[in-house]
Amino acid sequence: MKTKLPFKGISSTALHSASNNNAEDAHLVPIYATSTFTYDSTEEGMERFESKDKEKIYSRWANPTCKAVEETIAALEAFGLKDANGKQLELKALLHSSGQAAMATMFLGNLQAGDAILSHYSLYGGTYELMHKVLADTGIETIIVDMRNVDEVAKAIAENSSIKLVHIETPANPTIQCVDIEAVSNIAKATNLIVTVDNTFATPYLQQPFKYNVDFVFHSTTKFLNGHGTAIGGILLGKDIELMKTKIWKWFALLGGNSNPFDAFLLLNGIKTLEIRMERHCQNAKQLANYLQEHYAIEKVNYTGLASHTDYEIAKKQMRDNAPVFSFELKGGLQAGITFQNKLQMCTRAVSLGTVDTLISHPASTTHFSVPRDERVKFGITDGLIRLSVGIENIEDIIADFEQALEGL
Ligand SMILES: *Cc1c(COP(=O)(O)O)cnc(C)c1O
Repeated sequence: MKTKLPFKGISSTALHSASNNNAEDAHLVPIYATSTFTYDSTEEGMERFESKDKEKIYSRWANPTCKAVEETIAALEAFGLKDANGKQLELKALLHSSGQAAMATMFLGNLQAGDAILSHYSLYGGTYELMHKVLADTGIETIIVDMRNVDEVAKAIAENSSIKLVHIETPANPTIQCVDIEAVSNIAKATNLIVTVDNTFATPYLQQPFKYNVDFVFHSTTKFLNGHGTAIGGILLGKDIELMKTKIWKWFALLGGNSNPFDAFLLLNGIKTLEIRMERHCQNAKQLANYLQEHYAIEKVNYTGLASHTDYEIAKKQMRDNAPVFSFELKGGLQAGITFQNKLQMCTRAVSLGTVDTLISHPASTTHFSVPRDERVKFGITDGLIRLSVGIENIEDIIADFEQALEGL
């Protein structure tokens, strides 16, 4: 393998971090659609089985196309960061079939019955349900506090000796609350707790949690990392390489949450443009948020780039720019939300986020329709709330679509 320069930028890192062991001198990493791998001799087979990398044995254990993605995202999350000895930080990543699968490996690989997770109340729905409907049944409890108040974090840890892991999701849906990763990590590390971060909304372009001594970073790669909405996927990254290759790998390989070479190929191609996409996503989001803030039909814009957002300072401290996912509140409530969504001509009506096109959803009439009103309002999902993921279309067209859809509301 040729040695590589330490890259000075994110795009170079995204394009050139996968080890180049492509068959037949292929330019792109091939889709290694194979379930098993051959070896020339018994000795070679033995060597592979004994190795902790578990490569070229069986695709549930490791696959070369998936490996190229793992190396690339690991390089992005570690970009410019140093380890405890002042050397370039090394990370090990495992690519899963979905964000949920990666999250299951992360929690189950680190916890057992009797342990508890400490987290924030504003969480991705799937995370919240995994904690309360699945992990709870295995004897792993979740304690929820407002993590933006570090005193509450410290108090919960002091009062509950069962807390083993602190899970941070920042920024989080739908009001784009941010948690101070450094502050929470410092408190957790004072008693040696495991710290995990869901970095899906930010991507390694906007935020690198490993800077703050956390142990694991998680992404739903379905979102900005893929960027084009072509595949579901999730990745788990850890800085304790030995632990990742043994205990964490065991849960990954035996629960069978591995990704597949075709999805990995799509993801790898998506990641190549991460930096330039994010630049455009973020620039568009800023302009759209400023436009919406001035609009007569809008009560409030929840965008961390506005000084009125409660977590403006935290976002500025730990993120390169503001996440291009935000929400706003229509003065006209439920009916205005429904009408606005119906009138859109260009922006896409869909849940999810992080695709190149602008995605718009009205949670009260869709994702949270079945949640009792009192319950959803508690989590910030008010009647007129619109959630959007700003795409890379030309901003003039996005604003023109909003302008006509908001008219008369
Ligand atoms: C989408 C998402 C997940 C779950 O990932 P899937 O790929 O849908 O399984 C977890 N966390 C966040 C913040 C997400 O947006």
